[in-house]
Amino acid sequence: MQKPLQQIVAENPYVPMPVEVVKIITEVDSKDIKTFRLAFVNKEDEERFKYIPGQFADLSLYVKGESPIVIASSPTQKGYIEFTVQKAGVVTSALHEMEEGTLMGVRGPLGNSWPIEFLEGRTSSSWAAGSPSRPFARSSTT
Ligand SMILES: Cc1cc2nc3c(=O)[nH]c(=O)nc-3n(C[C@H](O)[C@H](O)[C@H](O)COP(=O)(O)OP(=O)(O)OC[C@H]3O[C@@H](n4cnc5c(N)ncnc54)[C@H](O)[C@@H]3O)c2cc1C
Repeated sequence: MQKPLQQIVAENPYVPMPVEVVKIITEVDSKDIKTFRLAFVNKEDEERFKYIPGQFADLSLYVKGESPIVIASSPTQKGYIEFTVQKAGVVTSALHEMEEGTLMGVRGPLGNSWPIEFLEGRTSSSWAAGSPSRPFARSSTT
């Protein structure tokens, strides 16, 4: 039997899931790096969005477009996902102008992850700079 259209759309990784901006954190004095805390509008989307540290998602803004951004929150944190974004061009500037309560889209998770299981029980030394720093730090809480 054919699946209902609603389910086909919901399972399609190319269709953005609706999320609400529930918190915006300004990370630096120059105000060009902000963290966006997003909550899924639909509970089923939140359950389906299973990610591991290192993966990214496409953040989509109506009319403006999409940008790939690394997921900055830890999968152990429930109820929201976070993205730390540096203002660069069209999409990221529009993101920076948003206010809490705005609805937007998220498509993902996409890409690869760090080999957390491989590191378990081993001593490791690592560093990161730039936009991946925050998600990298979050992986230590996974
Ligand atoms: C897998 C992946 C993960 C990423 N993760 C992150 C992340 O976690 N955080 C993060 O901040 N970024 C991240 N990025 C980078 C981010 O995706 C880009 O900065 C973003 O897509 C830019 O989109 P935009 O529409 O804002 O910029 P665009 O409008 O596409 O502009 C792109 C570039 O062109 C420049 N530009 C645009 N218009 C002009 C103009 N008129 N004159 C001169 N220069 C101009 C902009 O300054 C910018 O550098 C990631 C990228 C990838 C591929």
